[in-house]
Amino acid sequence: MNLALQNIKYLPGVGEKKGEILKQELEIQSFEDLLGYYPYKYIDRSVMHRVRDIKEDMLYVQLKGKILSFESMGEGMSKRLIAKFSDGTGVIELVWFKGIKFILSKYKVNTEYVVFGKPNAFNHKINLPHPDLDNIDEDLEKQAGALQGFYNTTEKMKNHFLNSKMIQKLMYNLFSILKEPLKENLNANTIARAKVISHHEAICNIHFPQSQDLLRKAEYRLKFEELFFIQLNILRYARLTNRKSSGFVLPTIGHFFNTFYEKNLPFELTNAQKRVLREIREDVRSSRQMNRLLQGDVGSGKTMVALMSMLIAIDNGFQTCMMAPTEILATQHFISITELTVGMGLNIVLLTGSSKKGHRAEVHQQLITGQIHIIIGTHALLEEIVQFDNLGMAIIDEQHRFGVAQRARLWSKNKKPPHVLVMTATPIPRTLAMTLYGDLDVSVIDELPPGRKPIQTIHQYDNRRGSLNASIRQQLQLGRQVYIVYPLIQESEKSDYKNLEEGFIHISETFPEYKVCMVHGKMKPAEKEAAMLQFVSGKANIMVATTVIEVGVNVPNASVMVIESAERFGLSQLHQLRGRVGRGADQSFCVLVTSHKLGEMTRKRMEIMVNSTDGFVIAEADLKLRGPGDLDGTQQSGDPFKLKIASLVYDGQVLQLARDIASEILEVDPELRNQENLVLKSELEKVFRKDVNWSQIS
Ligand code: ADP
Ligand code: MG
Repeated sequence: MNLALQNIKYLPGVGEKKGEILKQELEIQSFEDLLGYYPYKYIDRSVMHRVRDIKEDMLYVQLKGKILSFESMGEGMSKRLIAKFSDGTGVIELVWFKGIKFILSKYKVNTEYVVFGKPNAFNHKINLPHPDLDNIDEDLEKQAGALQGFYNTTEKMKNHFLNSKMIQKLMYNLFSILKEPLKENLNANTIARAKVISHHEAICNIHFPQSQDLLRKAEYRLKFEELFFIQLNILRYARLTNRKSSGFVLPTIGHFFNTFYEKNLPFELTNAQKRVLREIREDVRSSRQMNRLLQGDVGSGKTMVALMSMLIAIDNGFQTCMMAPTEILATQHFISITELTVGMGLNIVLLTGSSKKGHRAEVHQQLITGQIHIIIGTHALLEEIVQFDNLGMAIIDEQHRFGVAQRARLWSKNKKPPHVLVMTATPIPRTLAMTLYGDLDVSVIDELPPGRKPIQTIHQYDNRRGSLNASIRQQLQLGRQVYIVYPLIQESEKSDYKNLEEGFIHISETFPEYKVCMVHGKMKPAEKEAAMLQFVSGKANIMVATTVIEVGVNVPNASVMVIESAERFGLSQLHQLRGRVGRGADQSFCVLVTSHKLGEMTRKRMEIMVNSTDGFVIAEADLKLRGPGDLDGTQQSGDPFKLKIASLVYDGQVLQLARDIASEILEVDPELRNQENLVLKSELEKVFRKDVNWSQIS
């Protein structure tokens, strides 16, 4: 029997009407779809409670006993049926407000039942509203073993008697008519490598666990299976596109790298920087094109890694480029890289939207003739006219501002694509990165350079402006600079700008002796850059801004970051903003200003910020609180995370294993043509038949 082809309405107990509802509400159309609908929780039905021990705050109770009497009470809305139920240790009331007739026809007094429900306190007494009642010796109970699965259902389903129990019953019916074990969808090798139980055993136990142990194994197998096919899909796609082309081999560590390392490097590299450099070196001396995502918290020293990678390319006779999302950032990179490499005889140039015509022409010329070693710039680098002699390595700073299409344009500037290093400070949790950027390898700098003073974070209510302003003044008097940031949310743009402008006026009035500048996204690029420069150069003491400052500006003298309406920002975004301070030697501060009326969730979020300065910890916490679809910087990707059983938050290890195995398989058989891999190929086609194309997400 091909379960995928069996219409669900033909399953005993379903029929036309219920079949239609299963299809509408859960997209369950076939026998196979039903098997793929897993319980969301399990309850140990072997544990019986005693009536006299029931407390109001118990999540559920399970009782074995008899109904002593039924009594109908009330009229209209308050009409209800009450059954007195006893297990010999006490008496408790079971209450129904609906389906009274059905209950009376089905259940009898003085017969033994297992009752299951959630205690509820009413008039100083505890009762059980709408409990489940089971006969003691039902087949289902035997089959179900001690652990019973609970299935999510919708209001509409419940109205048609398709509650969790009914789903379980249907599942039971389905298993009873199965003539043979379910078809395996992994090959023997993968099963052995992942040490998982068979697909058949997993599906049986996910619905009807024979024991806690088997349930755990079933969950593990199904999580693995889910993540494995996602990874197989992404990696296969990545191979077909990116990896088709071989990369330049960069075998030499030579003059420039060594001179820099021995003479110019102003500090010892952190261990994390060394490790990442080794990873990059491994990539570029193989014949494969590097496509690497470098994650590192703000201030972790990504620029140094980028520079040293470029030096390797230069040592092998290639040109390099570094692209930043804003002119200010590009300029900052240009200045710091020029300073770092002073005396080495490197030709480094800057190209941005505001480069003068004559300069541009000269740069274009020098690029083609191969005289330029490093070109740093903005989107201007992507223009058609910018052509290289031999671009060997491209660095892209702040990944999420550039799309894949733009990455591809950089590659096309060469006969062969250059090695690409994409840097981001958005601390995407590793599991998410693997799923989102499946075509990129990931390196992580998980260590800050020594000697940084951790930023002190303070949560303050907005009805305490006086003390906040006093602290700001104190820092200004010490000669420091201050950021004040306002949120901006699309739907209420008008009022947001009002907030920003009022804030600007208020701050200007409060600190008349200091210069205040304002920056927001609605300004023309030139105005914006001019206002930013005022702050960067130290002419302005306070900058009032929207989140446009989020991306990488470096003003070491700024020591205070005030974030207004902090409750309206995502945690990762707050962390990014906070990273703008704490770049100098001084103690820095971040003040999160919120309304004093806060919900539980917001309070928790502020607490996380106050207690942690680790971007990865914060990103994980954010992911747990909000779910991955909402994570900063990934909203545009739609909702690719319809995972059935695996969790990107908790199953990082399973994901890694799945990825490793998938990668090994593709290494040997990229097209999945070998006999033993055909089963994987056909499952892959089935899984992704109607789903999003995962590989196109990054
Ligand atoms: P980000 O990762 O945010 O781009 P940067 O590359 O701008 O960080 O580095 C932040 C600061 O830390 C820079 O001033 C840089 O010179 C300094 N830095 C980088 N690596 C080290 C190191 N190993 N030891 C000390 N300081 C370092
Ligand atoms: Mg940076």
